[in-house]
Amino acid sequence: MKIAIYPGTFDPVTNGHLDILERAVKLFDKVIISVARNSTKNTIFTEDERIALLKIVSKKYKKVQVESFSGLLVEYARRKKATAIVRGLRVISDFEYEFQMALANRRLHEDVETVFLMPNEKYTYLSSSIVREVARLNGNVRDFVPPVIQRALKKKWKQQGR
Ligand code: ADP
Repeated sequence: MKIAIYPGTFDPVTNGHLDILERAVKLFDKVIISVARNSTKNTIFTEDERIALLKIVSKKYKKVQVESFSGLLVEYARRKKATAIVRGLRVISDFEYEFQMALANRRLHEDVETVFLMPNEKYTYLSSSIVREVARLNGNVRDFVPPVIQRALKKKWKQQGR
């Protein structure tokens, strides 16, 4: 059984994330989407909200599980008996950070391999932060995220009185 971890912040999950997920599902027997709990990032969606939204958008995949993790990613991967960490590579600017993380993780735990997947070209410009910014300014995020995320973003900004 080949298990992969797909870690990230997913604030919120975008069509780019889902493109990578779909590719990972074809390669592994089980993919665990893992929301980083101890992220230093300020998120607009709470951890529970991000997990709930990820569960909704990934429910069509039987092999996919969603949970959160804290602490070292490689230790978590080891506990989950995962042999791979999946990351998306969009542009050259992603590369330096991802390369550094992958090598550091390998140093910490030799048996977990980082696997980089490239999304469809149409998603190379897409990031959660672009989606948050467009939504905040009342722009249409229809092409960037699934409908359920679109609604969640609208609700979120309304709650915050924007
Ligand atoms: P993190 O804070 O760990 O970077 P993100 O949720 O921003 O979390 O991203 C999680 C993973 O998904 C990263 O590997 C990132 O490169 C990848 N990713 C994000 N957006 C896209 C996209 N549009 N296309 C492909 N991969 C993406």
